Order: sequence, then structure tokens, then C-alpha cells
Amino acid sequence: MRYKRSSELFRQASRVLPGGVNSPVRAFKSVGGTPVFVREAAGSRFTDEDGNEYIDFIASWGPLLFGHAFPPVVEAVTRRAQKGTSFGMPTALETEVAELAVSMVPGIEKIRFVNSGTEACMSVIRLARGYTGREKIIKFAGCYHGHADAFLIEAGSGAVTFGSPNSPGVTQGTARDTLLARYNDLESVKGLFEANPGEVAAVILEPVAGNMGCIPPEPGFLEGIRQLCTDSGALLIFDEVMTGFRLAAGGAQEALGISADLVAFGKVIGGGLPVGAFGGPAEIMSHLAPEGPVYQAGTLSGNPLAMGAGLAMLRAIEADPEVFSRLESKTAYLHEGLEHVLQEAGHPYRINRFGSMISVHFSDREVRDFESAATGNNDRFRNYFHGMLNRGVYLPPSAFESYFLNDALTAEDLDLAIDAAAGALKD
Ligand code: PMP
Repeated sequence: MRYKRSSELFRQASRVLPGGVNSPVRAFKSVGGTPVFVREAAGSRFTDEDGNEYIDFIASWGPLLFGHAFPPVVEAVTRRAQKGTSFGMPTALETEVAELAVSMVPGIEKIRFVNSGTEACMSVIRLARGYTGREKIIKFAGCYHGHADAFLIEAGSGAVTFGSPNSPGVTQGTARDTLLARYNDLESVKGLFEANPGEVAAVILEPVAGNMGCIPPEPGFLEGIRQLCTDSGALLIFDEVMTGFRLAAGGAQEALGISADLVAFGKVIGGGLPVGAFGGPAEIMSHLAPEGPVYQAGTLSGNPLAMGAGLAMLRAIEADPEVFSRLESKTAYLHEGLEHVLQEAGHPYRINRFGSMISVHFSDREVRDFESAATGNNDRFRNYFHGMLNRGVYLPPSAFESYFLNDALTAEDLDLAIDAAAGALKD
């Protein structure tokens, strides 16, 4: 049996870990079956505990721009570990990573390192609220900003201006301060500003959405939000946890030519170690403790192993700016191949892509917001996912997630994946 050891490990894990995992999407809830347990990985591939090999199209959900066990990152982490794994005191290394990040990303003069994308987004909205003296934020249905309470909000029934908690444990009080807009719908944002005059601290969004599959912003959408924020004194926050250092060295701001006031990072900036960050102009960042009154802290923030990995990653990007066009052509190649086999298969589908983010929706509608992303045929997705898995191709185990390509993927890997898709769709 192909997944025998993984099944045993999942049963064992489920006795001591809720749902057998430490993050829900890993549990294969929406595709069914047993999650594969990873033994080891290198480059574009990983091996599971049963010895099956896979071509990996999630790359740890984005961080591994150059593939698994990228030698400069492995070397940096190993070297740093021998000199101590955590101090809770400042190191020169943190400043080095900060200087490099600040030099790569437009509009950022100061940056604060944290330990996850969730922490980055949670802290950046506190800063925006502290800076503006306002309490409400606007977020978009289908955009994910981690699991802080303020973001676990869905559109309330009927009313566009009021959100409601989408997880037990999130209070109604919290929900009242998160306003829900529709992605790629500027009018919905305008409506919220009009209904809440002078109350909106910030608009936060994924400049290219990756949490309802990949959904690029339509022309004028981000420009319009930029203008609404400027006009009303609200801050525009780009959540670049996925897009930062992936779409370009300067992230989506550079790739799309739009400036945010504050930016949240995660994933690539940590090179596969637990890192998040947020940054902006010195004038806003100076409101953060200990320079200013907005509190934020962390025992392991700026951890030397994580900063060593981040520095190795950012240096590799700086030394090889061509990586982004290589990733783009690999993704375009995959796009073309999938387009071909999907057409042959004759099912309705939509492929969305931006840079090295791509997703397949089994839908007959344009996928441009959360509502249209939800029209995909989930049974078809499930069969496609398992068909690919059985052929050694690991895709995100949910129709609402984007693939993340990495630079270690070879032409052979891509051809194998396209052939696997042809087979999986035939089944
Ligand atoms: N923002 C975005 C856009 C994300 O995709 C994610 C996680 N996928 C987060 C924030 C949260 O990051 P983390 O899982 O590191 O807490």
C-alpha cells in the first residue's frame, strides 16, 4: 500500500495532536484521505515516510524560492547554531538583514522582525490603529492574513458594513471593527469608507491574492484603493507574506508599481525558518515600542538561526535577480501545459497566474473574488489532487490555495507534472 507508513503516523499523531496536525490545511480535510508524512527533501522534490518521491509545487507554502535544503541557507543555519541558538539580546546579524530588506523593498525605512506572518499582520494593524488613532480596518473576503482575531471575520448576513466571527472564540466586539469588502470590487471599498467616515485606520489586502487560489488584482483596483486611503487618511497595508521577495525583489509593490504605507512579510524573508516582519517609513515605524507607544515584542524575534537563513535567502536573491524571470517562465510553461491537457479533458476550468503563483479552478466562471472562487467543482478538484498525488506530484490540498513554484524545478519536473495532469484528468 502506497501510503501505509503515513497512515500509521497519522493515526499516531491524531492521538496527541488535534486533527493529527499543527496547521489545519495539512490534514487533507477538503480532499479526503491521509496526509503524506515527509521524511526529507532536496531541491524540487521530497520523499515521504513510505519512500515515495514527489515533485513539490507548494515549497512549504511559498518560502522556498530556491527549493528545499538550499545550500546557502543550510550552511548559514548550521554555522549559526554552533554559536548559540537564541540570546534575547541584539545581534549585528539582525541589522544586516534589516539593511538588506530595506534596500530591496520600496518605501520601507524601518522593519520589525517577528516569528510568523500571523504575528506580522496582527502587529501591523495595531501599529496602523495606534498611528491613526482610529479603530476600524477593512479586509477582503477570501484574503487570509493569519489567524489573529481581527482577521477571522466573514461577511455578516446581508449587511456589507458589519462582519461576524468565523471561528468560535472570536468576539462580536472584535468583529465590529473589521469591515468586509469584495476583492476586485472598488465600489464595495468606497461604500465602507462612506459608511464609516473618519473611522478607518487601514485597508489590508493581499496585492495578489493567494488564499482563494491565485487571484490577480484587476486594473484600477489597487490604484483606486490607494486613492481612497490617501483621501481619507487611512493607511494602505499590503500583506506581502506570500508575494514579498517572490514576485520581485521589492515584492508586489515593485511588480505592480503601487506604493503601500505599511507592508507585512513572512515566508521567503525567513528562508524556510519561522520569520515574519513588517515595515514602513520611519515616521510611522517610530510609533512602535520602544521608540513609541505602540507595544510589540518577542522572546525569539530576530532569532539568529532565522536571521541567518533570511540573510542567506535575501543575499541569494540580490545576487541573482534573474531568478524572478526564470520562475515566471517556468510557471508560464506549466500554465501552457496544463491549459493544453485541461482543454483535451473537456471539463470547465480557469487557470489564474501571476508570476510564480498559479492555480486551477474547475469552474466555468471567471475567478476574480471569493464568491467566484467558491464556484469550483470540489469533487473534480479532489480527484485531480489525488490523481496527481498518486503520480508523485504534490499540489496544495485545497482548491483555495495557490501553487508556489521554486527555482529548483527542472524542465523534466514540469513535463512530468503536465503528463501526470493528463493522466489524472483522464481517470
Ligand atoms: N498572510 C498571508 C497572505 C498568508 O498567505 C499567510 C499564511 N499562508 C499569512 C499571512 C499567515 O502567515 P503564517 O502562517 O506564517 O502565520
